[in-house]
Amino acid sequence: MDLGIAGKHAIVCAASKGLGKGCAMALAEEGVHVVITARTAATLEATAAQIRGKTGVQVTAVTGDITTAQGRAAALAACPAPDILVNNAGGPPPGDFRDWTRDDWIAALDANMLTAIELIKATVDGMMERGFGRIVNITSSSVKAPIDVLGLSNGARSGLHGFVAGVARNTVRRGVTINSILPGPFDTDRLRGTFAFRAAKTGEDEAAVAAAQAAANPSGRFGTAQEFGKTCAFICSAHTGYITGQNFLLDGGAYPGTY
Ligand code: NAP
Repeated sequence: MDLGIAGKHAIVCAASKGLGKGCAMALAEEGVHVVITARTAATLEATAAQIRGKTGVQVTAVTGDITTAQGRAAALAACPAPDILVNNAGGPPPGDFRDWTRDDWIAALDANMLTAIELIKATVDGMMERGFGRIVNITSSSVKAPIDVLGLSNGARSGLHGFVAGVARNTVRRGVTINSILPGPFDTDRLRGTFAFRAAKTGEDEAAVAAAQAAANPSGRFGTAQEFGKTCAFICSAHTGYITGQNFLLDGGAYPGTY
């Protein structure tokens, strides 16, 4: 299927690795020119070169922290009129809510709620004026099925979902959709980091922890960044103008509910 977005311009946040990189690569494979961001220049440049080499589209690497005003301004300066925006940032650390201070909460809200809202605010009116826009927020399955140690993530991301649910109905008439993808366990550095954390805490073997978790998923495995990216590219396609304010759970069937 031709997704009908060749030649469009996208900002993909937090995209040197993992799910963001999967989205950037999949969009580039559809002929979309991408601005990608991350804090570590070397990894980001290597990813930019890889995407460029594989697809031939324009790939601009913008080094910076997307959760800061400067980081967002740099991304927008590199692509002032994006057709596609993929919101993403690192997730907050696990822990016990009794230990979290107001500053911890503000950091989580900044990274996983307000950064996306600021970028939507900066781009959505231009998209509506041009009559086309696709905004996708990478959040977490923990919004639907909360994970107790990830309370900062559950809370901050739920706030983003609440905001998007309202605004997404006000943009679709002008060709702009806003949706979220909720990843379950995907094989990325972040997921591997959680196994290392647990193995260090309990003395279990890291590979055994990972294998048990993969086996416990109905699919018997973890998702891949590539399949995550392909889903994102479809949601960003020309064919999805009637889909807005939706939350797509990509978890291999782990969520056990009918609805
Ligand atoms: P990852 O493999 O660790 O990749 C994270 C990417 O984001 C890297 O490119 C990283 O580069 C960049 N990044 C992190 N913080 C940033 C910041 N403040 N500004 C700019 N770039 C930043 O993580 P992932 O698994 O793809 O996760 C992406 C998001 O999905 C996270 O919010 C995570 O919590 C969520 N999620 C993931 C899973 C999963 O199973 N993988 C499940 C549920 C939710 P730098 O470090 O160089 O900045």
